Amino acid sequence: MKEIHYKHIVQNVARLCEEANYDLGEDVVKAFQKAVQTESSEAGKDVLNQLIDNANIATQNRVPMCQDTGVSVFIVKLGQECHITGGSLYDAINEGVRIGYEDGYLRYSIVDDPINRKNTGDNTPSVIHTEITPGDHLEIHMTAKGGGAENMSALKMLTPSDGVEGVKKFILDTVQEAGPNACPPLVVGIGIGGNFESCAYLAKKSLFRPVGERHANQDIAAFEETLTQDINKLGIGPQGMGGSTTALDIKIEISPCHIAALPVAVNLNCHASRHKHVIL
Ligand code: SF4
Repeated sequence: MKEIHYKHIVQNVARLCEEANYDLGEDVVKAFQKAVQTESSEAGKDVLNQLIDNANIATQNRVPMCQDTGVSVFIVKLGQECHITGGSLYDAINEGVRIGYEDGYLRYSIVDDPINRKNTGDNTPSVIHTEITPGDHLEIHMTAKGGGAENMSALKMLTPSDGVEGVKKFILDTVQEAGPNACPPLVVGIGIGGNFESCAYLAKKSLFRPVGERHANQDIAAFEETLTQDINKLGIGPQGMGGSTTALDIKIEISPCHIAALPVAVNLNCHASRHKHVIL
């Protein structure tokens, strides 16, 4: 049984929070650079170049790439041969977030109660999903999820008779309705199948895959490709200025579901597609 100490987790989570907000992943920057070559509108090209400059400035000056430093969302894969010592896993993650957001001068974006809305003052609590896996590793995946894109996300319980066309229509309608409010160019995370709550998790989980990486299943990969092309025909463009780059990428995850159900969740991610991970 491998032991991992609470403090080791705290230090790593604090680092991930700062890096996620300062250092846009190479996958996203490459997608911006590629999009500049293909973008049809001059205004769209200009926005994409500004996003590249913005990412460079954030990295060089150690400042957040966006004022919205997001909800800290974690997918944690805990090996069943791994034992956390010195405190609880959830407390360690939240302490890491507290330290990372304070030391990194990152905006605190969480309120303690959705009705009374008092800021918690340290960006906790974070949203933590855990999966128990074979082995003795602790994998921590973190994203700082912006509020604008999250607000425009949607879930619908379709029925099997809606079919693939119904799934496509719901995804395109959701992106169309989001327009500029989700801060495009987007990464669109899609969950298909499962049930009401697991479908939303699939959509969120898909956003942790690197931009540009296709699904291992060839049929799903082809659907990702087709949807990316269809979304980019909507004309919304970078920051809603019009153009051919509404989405940098589409990610789909699927799961078995009930014979009477066809749940679909669309979790939009803005251009600040911030995901980092560590394996302990
Ligand atoms: S949705 Fe994304 S780009 Fe828009 S303000 Fe929030 S973090 Fe920034």
